[in-house]
Amino acid sequence: MQVLKFGGTSVGSSKNINKVIAILEERAANEKIICVVSAIGGITDKLLKSGQLAKEKNESYLSEFKKIKSIHLKLLLDLTSIENKSISNTLQAKLKSLKELLDGIFLINELSSQTSDKLVSYGELLSSYIIAETLKSRGINAERKNSQELIVTNSNFTKAEVNFEDSNTKIRKYFNKTEQSITILPGFISKSKAGEITTLGRGGSDYTAAIVAAALNVKRLEIWTDVSGMFTANPKLVKQAYPIERISYQEAMELSHFGAKVLYPPTVQPVLDLEIPIHIKNTLKPSDSGTIISNENNSKPNVATGITNINDIALLTLQGNGMVGVPGFSKRLFETLSQEQINIILITQASSEHSICFGILQTDASKAEAAINQTFEYEISMHKIDPINVELNLSIIALIGDNMKNHQSISGKMFSTLGKNNINIRAIAQGASERNISAVITEKDVEKALNTIHERFFEDNVKQLNVYITGIGNVGEKLIDQIEQQHDYLRKNLKLDVRIIGLSNSKKMVFNAKGIDLSNWASLFHHADKSNLKNFFNKVTDLNLRNSIFVDVTANEAVSHMYADYLKNSIAVVACSKIACSSAYSNYKYLQDLSLKFNTPFLYETNVGAGLPIINTLNNLVASGDSVTSIQAVLSGSLNFIFNLFSDRTNFHDTVKRAQFEGYTEPDPRIDLSGIDVARKMLILARENGETMDIEAIENDSFLTKANLNSDTVDDFYDTLKEDEAHFQKLYASAKAKKCKLKYVAEFKNGKAKVGLQEIPEGHPFSNLEGKDNIVMFYTKRYPEQPLIVKGAGAGADVTASGLFADIIRIGNK
Ligand code: ASP
Repeated sequence: MQVLKFGGTSVGSSKNINKVIAILEERAANEKIICVVSAIGGITDKLLKSGQLAKEKNESYLSEFKKIKSIHLKLLLDLTSIENKSISNTLQAKLKSLKELLDGIFLINELSSQTSDKLVSYGELLSSYIIAETLKSRGINAERKNSQELIVTNSNFTKAEVNFEDSNTKIRKYFNKTEQSITILPGFISKSKAGEITTLGRGGSDYTAAIVAAALNVKRLEIWTDVSGMFTANPKLVKQAYPIERISYQEAMELSHFGAKVLYPPTVQPVLDLEIPIHIKNTLKPSDSGTIISNENNSKPNVATGITNINDIALLTLQGNGMVGVPGFSKRLFETLSQEQINIILITQASSEHSICFGILQTDASKAEAAINQTFEYEISMHKIDPINVELNLSIIALIGDNMKNHQSISGKMFSTLGKNNINIRAIAQGASERNISAVITEKDVEKALNTIHERFFEDNVKQLNVYITGIGNVGEKLIDQIEQQHDYLRKNLKLDVRIIGLSNSKKMVFNAKGIDLSNWASLFHHADKSNLKNFFNKVTDLNLRNSIFVDVTANEAVSHMYADYLKNSIAVVACSKIACSSAYSNYKYLQDLSLKFNTPFLYETNVGAGLPIINTLNNLVASGDSVTSIQAVLSGSLNFIFNLFSDRTNFHDTVKRAQFEGYTEPDPRIDLSGIDVARKMLILARENGETMDIEAIENDSFLTKANLNSDTVDDFYDTLKEDEAHFQKLYASAKAKKCKLKYVAEFKNGKAKVGLQEIPEGHPFSNLEGKDNIVMFYTKRYPEQPLIVKGAGAGADVTASGLFADIIRIGNK
């Protein structure tokens, strides 16, 4: 004997019922089959809705009934193509009596829970009738048995408790004698000893199947549904969730209690003692292996088995000094809740005994609040305790797994993962069995929390990075290209899944929460929405994705003012703009402090030397206890390019123009030529070395003329360069006469920094610095004579983009 149960979707259409029949026929070849069926998908809800409307004297209950009627009639017609008068008459008669019941409710304006059970029982009665008759009409040896005659309960309507002794006797007696190879049983419905119609609770058809399976001690129970088993998390919220192959009864109960709708929680109990395995299968994909719930061979690759959530939670806190050390408070509190029939989902009390905190369904919150305040009226009036505090719109997320008790630091991992993603935990509960670690969080964070925990515990450690880029000029475009090109490599070798979720420039923005298609981003961007910085930020925070990184590829001050907001929301910031780090020291420090406080990276390697690892090297020296005595550097790729090209055979104006054309200067070349850009870089290096200085402290000996420096616009500036050509030729001639080269040098020594044009003799490490290269020499306690040198291209879109990309990857590896 085998017991198979098919849920609402499995019997929800003629197409699916034909799949069910194919499965039944195959199974019936070897053994007798008991097939428990749900109501057709959605019918129980429709029955309840029509009853409610009728009770409210709303005549639209009739149109709801019509929908129910036509669904059933159409199904019968589709399944039994040859019209069979007697079957359809019987069905019509059943539907007629349903209509009469609804008319009665309408008439008396009342719907008791007893009548409600009677009403919803039609769902399973009708579906089981149609399926049994279809089988018979196809010549299959099948019969329907009304399970109301087999399952006996008390009179707890809508969620009756089963009398196992009576039910088992009846079930065994009936099935000992059955001749037919397939018996169709309606799930969910039952009768009390007194003969009243009862039901086993919403989703209770699973339970019917378990009761029958246990009564007959069958080899296994199969629950056929519309998903391929119990998943590591709700696949609607966590895309990477996957079916769990094997799971213990206890784990299944924990997971199903917490909203994993695949299995009705009480189902496990009857089969647990007899160790009958439950196999969850997918009617729509019968070849998928599904989930086996049993106590055998549950070795799993992960410490945790699944993660689940329950929404619409209210957290209530009873607190006050009057509770400390006084026995009886919890008893009175929980007694009050029990009297009000309120189910407690989670409880925590710290050992200070100053407060008790518990989670209940939000729908029970006001009832609980009133009752508790009444119970403790006296203590509240004496100010021994405060009135109960109620917080709404919360969710519980729970990590489940038998194996967790054998491993340390699971909860540490869980909570640090949540913390890193700025998810505030309101309460925590972990039972001594260590099978379930629960945390209460706000409902808006649920999806992010589930995804981030899932990633941490179930995804072979592939970490998703969600990147938002502002600024799509030369560098931005290159960065997008590099991310697209390296995507698969990073996934395979570094277990990083880097996705670009948002792109924007000063005019437009485009988002895709699943990742922008990078092969087509330019045309998507072309049709993008209007943007501004605040909207972009709001969208990023609304999406609330884990491991988010904001990348600033602009040279825009307003963008740099947004960094603090991103960091405060635990969104990492990667900046190529050096505006923030070279702004007032107080602002630089503020951003560093935010980064520390929110444990959120703020990286800006490209601020100095584009893609060269200069800041990172300096940070490592400082962190490892070395002390930097001096820094000497050529930090301007553009100035190096210009002075390498400029000679008595060229002119200064054209050389600067060319540098700008090649993309080596800032959009405003005065920032480079005035030395201010180098001064800012020097300032950043000094600050990274622990100096608290501001830009004014950096001596800047400009080689430009007054006219150059006072020019109003970029065009004016170029004009003055032409006019002052003689000045620049003089600088060149002086250096040439001494066999020197002109280099714009930045120096830091004894806490002082300066930048300026220098004549560098042959043989000096700066002398042969090619093209747009940069060089930095760190003299330190550990590198006193031979400095640690970083050298290479210090400007250009490709290398700057790769520097940004390296920062992104660094965050991923954190
Ligand atoms: N039809 C009932 C419900 O929707 C029972 C079941 O399908 O398991 O709750």
